Amino acid sequence: MCVVDSFADVKILRYSVDGFEQLTPKQKFLLYYLSEAALWGREILFHQNGGDETILLLRTLDAIYAYQQQKGELDSRLALYTKRVWFCSGVHHHYSNDKFLPEFSQDDFNSWLAQVPNFDTLVGASAGYAASRLSKLIFDKDYKPKKVCLDNGVDLVASSAVNFYEGVSQREVEHFYKTRGANALNSKLIRNANNQLEEQIWKVGGMYSDAIVRIVENLKRASQYAENEQQVDIINTLIAYYEQGDLSLFDEYNKKWVSEKQSIVDFINGFIEVYSDPLGFKGTWESIVELVDAASSERIRLISENAQWFEDHSPIDAEFRKTQVTGVSMRVVNAVMLAGDCYPATPIGVNLPNAEWIREQFGSKSISLGNITHAHHEAAKSSGVLDEFAYDADEISRAHTWGRLADDLHTQLHECLGHGSGRMREGVTLDALKAYGSTLEEARADLFALYFMADPKMIELGIIPSLDVAWSHYDAYLRSGMLVQLARIAEGKNVEESHMRNRLLISRYVFEKGSATGAVKMLIRDGKHYIKIYGYQALRQMFGELLREIQRIKSTGDYEAARELVENYGIRIDAMLHHEVRERYQKLGIKPFSGFVNPRMSISDDGSDIHIDYTEAYDAQMLRYGNEYKTLKCQ
Ligand code: ZN
Repeated sequence: MCVVDSFADVKILRYSVDGFEQLTPKQKFLLYYLSEAALWGREILFHQNGGDETILLLRTLDAIYAYQQQKGELDSRLALYTKRVWFCSGVHHHYSNDKFLPEFSQDDFNSWLAQVPNFDTLVGASAGYAASRLSKLIFDKDYKPKKVCLDNGVDLVASSAVNFYEGVSQREVEHFYKTRGANALNSKLIRNANNQLEEQIWKVGGMYSDAIVRIVENLKRASQYAENEQQVDIINTLIAYYEQGDLSLFDEYNKKWVSEKQSIVDFINGFIEVYSDPLGFKGTWESIVELVDAASSERIRLISENAQWFEDHSPIDAEFRKTQVTGVSMRVVNAVMLAGDCYPATPIGVNLPNAEWIREQFGSKSISLGNITHAHHEAAKSSGVLDEFAYDADEISRAHTWGRLADDLHTQLHECLGHGSGRMREGVTLDALKAYGSTLEEARADLFALYFMADPKMIELGIIPSLDVAWSHYDAYLRSGMLVQLARIAEGKNVEESHMRNRLLISRYVFEKGSATGAVKMLIRDGKHYIKIYGYQALRQMFGELLREIQRIKSTGDYEAARELVENYGIRIDAMLHHEVRERYQKLGIKPFSGFVNPRMSISDDGSDIHIDYTEAYDAQMLRYGNEYKTLKCQ
């Protein structure tokens, strides 16, 4: 139900903004203008990913798609390719960075182009020009084959398709920023007509001015509806940065932004993450508009406030308990609008700012996107995985009732308390466990969550209504650790990634102990394997024992014990079972990647309120954005 579209290896989901209807009109207008400021940046990302050609490609595909759709003759190959270009904001896969090619031919494309009436007006270039200009970009697999290239021994700037540098080599870029240390995050570095290196700053009056002017315009409107003076100041500082392009103003903005924790509306808007630059200097443009989820944030507050109680009651040796512990603060928010590099594929959590010195001196904001996680969760429920791998109807119905709460609670206990608990014996260094350290660190945080989720204190604090939440989570944890997660590993391979090793280690450890006593069993039905728990309380004690042991290993730097635990339980998988799991999983035909459509917001007819609508289709949204948020010149 929540999957609104699906193509290639992608499914498109919808999220809803819980709590929107309860807001005052003033708060809704604030969200509306921040959302407009988000949407107006759309074309910047397309241009960053591939330059002028990518803008021309976007306009051309939009024109053909809209025309064919309106005639009722949408070619499925054109639709597939266009949906992928929209999804990736360019011609490279959003995850692998490899270029993808269409299933249609150049002749198909040229004839479709020629059929679109008023092509020149719609696109801003003639059909003939578009056909020849786009030919290599669309059809030549060797032209710009990688969005970001990180291979050894090649010029990374020359071999990456991203549009952050022009006419300069990797060595020149590195030398430039080593000696100048000037603006890096918000500019393109080019060789100018006088053969000198020059930064084209992304600001009002600079590069991307036409888009940034619109962003600023809407930020100014938003500031009139801000919740408090601090928020006005934050928005104004961001505006000043966009107007002047001075990165010290962006730092200023970030300092103010991390300190503001009162308002329920918050947002990210700017040139932020540097993953798309092979040299890590240039920020891709992104925006997320957020609304604080009061109920979930209250749960985190309760957990953090009781951090000392949990530490004092942890099943670890008293010697390794922290005498003074503070929980990490984290806010759960609901996404209201996703844009730029956060759309349609989006993170489920964000921790900003990236500048290390600001983080050290002023802290950072950690948010988790509650409604996005929820939408993923709903999609997983209907994916068939649960029905395939759960043993019986009880297990399935419990997962439907408590799965989301249990997942959220696990993440919050893991992040806010788990990692921060315990202390080292004097003289032991954090790197004593070497390559096994990160697996055991994740295991420690997971075990903390597993153990305390079933503590009566959880009910007492009003965090969970009954221990069924925890038992449902125990089912899910073992089901994933012993079975489902193996589907992601190629046959014949071992488990490498530390979060996966940790889940395998914990599950196999308690399975081995538990099957000796009958608390857990592996059952076979119709030739398929299932995990069934018979003694939940017994399992909880085993999680506690393992937590105690892993804390001892970490606190004392017992490398030998770490090696033995990880090697014995966390790496190797049974080949027969692995094969079976992969077969069962593949039959479900699950798309590995997901993205989202945004809600559509509009001002009411009398201008006094904001409406929110959740019915827009993926292609309709993309075509509307293409029409309404056109900013860059098509060349
Ligand atoms: Zn962790």
